[in-house]
Amino acid sequence: MLARLESERFDVLVVGGGSTGLGVAVDASSRGYRTALVEAHDFAKATSSRSTKLIHGGVRYLEQLNFSLVMEALRERGIMCQNAPHLVNHLAFVVPRYKWWEGPFYGVGMKLYDTLAGKLNIATSRSLNRDETIAAIPNVQQRDLIGGIMYHDGQFDDARMAITLASTAADQGTAIANYLNVTGLAKNHGFVTGVEAEDTQSGSKLSIQAKVTVNATGIFTDALRKLDDPTCESIIEPAQGVHLVLDRSFGASDNAIMVPHTDDQRVLFVIPWHGRVIVGTTDTAMDNPLLEPRALPNEIDFILKNASRYMKKDPTRRDILSVFAGQRPLVHLGGKSKRTKSISRSHEVFVSQSGLVTITGGKWTTYRKMAEDTMEHVIQVGGLAPAPCSTEKLCLRGYMPRDAPDFPTQDHFRVYGSDAVKIQALAKQTPEWSNKLDDALPYIGAQVVWAVRQEMAQRLEDVMARRTRSLLLDAQRSMAAANLAATIMAKELGRDQNWVATELDAYRELAMGYMAESI
Ligand SMILES: Cc1cc2nc3c(=O)[nH]c(=O)nc-3n(C[C@H](O)[C@H](O)[C@H](O)COP(=O)(O)OP(=O)(O)OC[C@H]3O[C@@H](n4cnc5c(N)ncnc54)[C@H](O)[C@@H]3O)c2cc1C
Repeated sequence: MLARLESERFDVLVVGGGSTGLGVAVDASSRGYRTALVEAHDFAKATSSRSTKLIHGGVRYLEQLNFSLVMEALRERGIMCQNAPHLVNHLAFVVPRYKWWEGPFYGVGMKLYDTLAGKLNIATSRSLNRDETIAAIPNVQQRDLIGGIMYHDGQFDDARMAITLASTAADQGTAIANYLNVTGLAKNHGFVTGVEAEDTQSGSKLSIQAKVTVNATGIFTDALRKLDDPTCESIIEPAQGVHLVLDRSFGASDNAIMVPHTDDQRVLFVIPWHGRVIVGTTDTAMDNPLLEPRALPNEIDFILKNASRYMKKDPTRRDILSVFAGQRPLVHLGGKSKRTKSISRSHEVFVSQSGLVTITGGKWTTYRKMAEDTMEHVIQVGGLAPAPCSTEKLCLRGYMPRDAPDFPTQDHFRVYGSDAVKIQALAKQTPEWSNKLDDALPYIGAQVVWAVRQEMAQRLEDVMARRTRSLLLDAQRSMAAANLAATIMAKELGRDQNWVATELDAYRELAMGYMAESI
């Protein structure tokens, strides 16, 4: 890949390997354009691995009467379910009701949500009585409970989706690499002609040439824009969101709870995910974008306090298996507001005078549509021969129909789709790779081997946080699991014991930031 990046001249070069950039690379290469993508750290290292893991229209945008945003997202939800059934599953949500008026209010809202989804609706929403509500969400607070409303949305594994998009882009011909940091833009007569990048693993520098360069760097958008034009105004206002991960007993069913109004008038989700329960989120305006944001103590307290109101078994700090924070790349045009929950969640495409195309804002759910919109600008800027978008019907790597007889049933294998059998074959071929990394986690050695051989995992963190989700499922136990993972990685990558020791140290430091007791 590095040799290709150096030697070829591309039509489209994407900077940033989160959902937005990966989506653009898949779109561009599947249209037949010569495409490259470079990511400074690892794919989905920043915001794209730290979401609530929902593929949704966004029920709360209904309250803001933003119907077009909801409709667009619901359409994309349907497309994603069709093209990646191994990564997106249907999930039932229950809104518990404690006041009489909540029935008609949320009931009408959910019917509208069903209607906006049209023929791509997952299942019709319905009213539940008190007993049905308790049966659906057994850990709900039962004092004064009247009933509930059940509706349906999509759920996914965000980092695994990112890795799948990277593999799909490569399958479509994209030259793609992680750990390549863009440090400068190359220009000819004032027009961007590519980038200067540094390989952060080896320290070597390289130049990549392209007709059009796309800035898809999320919360870091302004840094790249300023490399293009140091006088341009900042447009990104990062807003931090935190999630707590608890053990399964705090959900105790396959359904999610949706709390429509927290103290700060936001929604709060309690969601089953990979055998754990995720609770979140917050919305805290931040001054600077951070690659590795940390939860603030008051964000943890806020979630615990609000969740406890709706849960029979109240979570405490001691129950937190992992806490993760992410920053939303909210676009703010003209003056700073600091009221991040009121800033639009829709995406924006800008073209600078030098031809740098910037795509930012939006959400994971709409990554495909964001890419399609971006490519319209890219084609114009680069004077590329127009080619139609084909991603609506493009099956992603590992695609297999949900009703296929060999569709993997276990969550930690389902995310690979049709590739799962190849990982299981690795485990059969070398029995020590069939060992679990740790008893508290579902992952086995063969997944580490696969991550290195097939998914460009280079650092221990890549395997623990994003190829497997060990860091999010249990930060403490992931530190123990890291020993075996590092040993397997070193063998695969041809690294020595020093590398193992350095990676383990770095990983332990990272994992400490995900443990609530140390915050
Ligand atoms: C708390 C929270 C919950 C959310 N929940 C949901 C949800 O449930 N559903 C949903 O649809 N959306 C959700 N979102 C929104 C969604 O996660 C984001 O919109 C999306 O992940 C943004 O992706 P991105 O690619 O734009 O940014 P990022 O994922 O941040 O990617 C940008 C990439 O650019 C790279 N980069 C930066 N500078 C350079 C450089 N100089 N050279 C090379 N690479 C560079 C970075 O390393 C990074 O990997 C949530 C967001 C947050 C914060």
